[in-house]
Amino acid sequence: MIIELLSDNKELAVTGQDVVRLFYPDAEIRLVHAGECEITLKVAVYADGQFIEGAVELIKGGIFTAEQVTANMKSLPFPDDLRNNLKRLVKLALFRLLSKYTGQPAGPWGILTGIRPTKIVHRLLDEGWRPDCINQYLTTAYDMSKDKAELLIDIALRQRIYLLSEKEAGELISIYIGIPFCPTRCAYCSFPSYPVENGTKLIEPFLEALACEIKGIGKAVKAMGLKVQTIYVGGGTPTVLSSEKLLHLLDIINNSLVSEATVEITLEAGRPDTITIEKLKSAREQGVARVSINPQTTNPGTLEVIGRRHSVQQVADAVAMARLAGFNTINMDVIIGLPGETTADVENTMSAIAAFEPENLTVHTMAVKRASRIIEAKDHFKAAPAREVEKMLYIAQEAAVNMGMKPYYLYRQKNMVSPLENVGYTRSGHECVYNIQMIEERQTVIGLGGGAGSKFVKAGTWYLTSHYNPKDPDVYISRINEIIAMKVDKLRSFD
Ligand code: SF4
Repeated sequence: MIIELLSDNKELAVTGQDVVRLFYPDAEIRLVHAGECEITLKVAVYADGQFIEGAVELIKGGIFTAEQVTANMKSLPFPDDLRNNLKRLVKLALFRLLSKYTGQPAGPWGILTGIRPTKIVHRLLDEGWRPDCINQYLTTAYDMSKDKAELLIDIALRQRIYLLSEKEAGELISIYIGIPFCPTRCAYCSFPSYPVENGTKLIEPFLEALACEIKGIGKAVKAMGLKVQTIYVGGGTPTVLSSEKLLHLLDIINNSLVSEATVEITLEAGRPDTITIEKLKSAREQGVARVSINPQTTNPGTLEVIGRRHSVQQVADAVAMARLAGFNTINMDVIIGLPGETTADVENTMSAIAAFEPENLTVHTMAVKRASRIIEAKDHFKAAPAREVEKMLYIAQEAAVNMGMKPYYLYRQKNMVSPLENVGYTRSGHECVYNIQMIEERQTVIGLGGGAGSKFVKAGTWYLTSHYNPKDPDVYISRINEIIAMKVDKLRSFD
């Protein structure tokens, strides 16, 4: 299907695209009049000093439908400038018109398509807004459901004690270390990850380059008087490394980055088939306090379909080994909306997870990304309808609550099988501080290793620039000196 989205003001047309995609995810959207389209949408805005208005007209063949949203500038509190409010009203008008026109139920997030919605709540809390006013604003200004508004506010309030002051953000950073290797590549994976077939030749030179980067950045961080608050060793699957290599890597991390200010080191051990008691004991000895073991589902058929090549028994064994090694914070990831899964599958998975008694649970809604294998067989990997996925998410949420957990971070992704969210849950006192800092973007996070992203955040204004290491390990290895120099420069300019 081809849809035209037209306006005298191109910025408004661009603004509306995300909303149109909520209703027509596969449509080609054109921003110029080119004829041959099935639907024409015309958007416009008006402001007369007291009222602002967003208007949309939909023309399909001879049928004409229109929607207008008007807001009184004096009676509603608007935290944004006029330009952003005009854009928001156009989105609202589009959203309401397309909900009525298509008969599709309005999604619980309304017009909010951004991936870090809790940042809006933090901004309003910073400005002194009361939670009930924020709730009213989110439900009226974004057409967000009351449940989602409450969830956002609940999470943001829980996070406040972890957000850094301007002074702290000028002193404390976090580090992400990416090991871009896994036993096999999962069908849905869009991360930098290369399958390891019995010791790929790339691992050794990659680890040497990574050691240089860790030492180089560690030196620069110390010279600038900065301290590392949290470290996340992810990927990929770091536990795919041999016990000796993992121990050596953690030793370098400890010597180069860890100080008395370091409150947490997490090790991603996502694939249970890579976990051994030696690796876990070494990690504990090196100060790793949190480990992530990810079943994704406990349905063996689904595990096979998504290419995970591990059994549920291996998950159980990995959890037992982690406890034996002394870990008292274990995270488990699950994915909702996996191909062919039903609400009964999710119920089974959540019962199995409850029996593992993890301290953290991360519930993802399946996203079909361009970089994944699943996109090539999109028609073959059918997810459940949106309403069904919503029910599954609710089952997972209930299960987390029954395990004594509370939601403590949330983000959304593009291309989810249903436009919902990913939520991290925790038992009290087991929050992963890194995850909060990473999502809320109030701390500089330096990414080291394959495909790792860095976010340089200006303390106080929270202005942010991003930078990514090359995904390809060969490119990363050959350009390592240049990568280190560029990152040190960026860090200095934000000091
Ligand atoms: S374990 Fe994670 S990083 Fe590795 S292939 Fe699967 S999804 Fe990708």
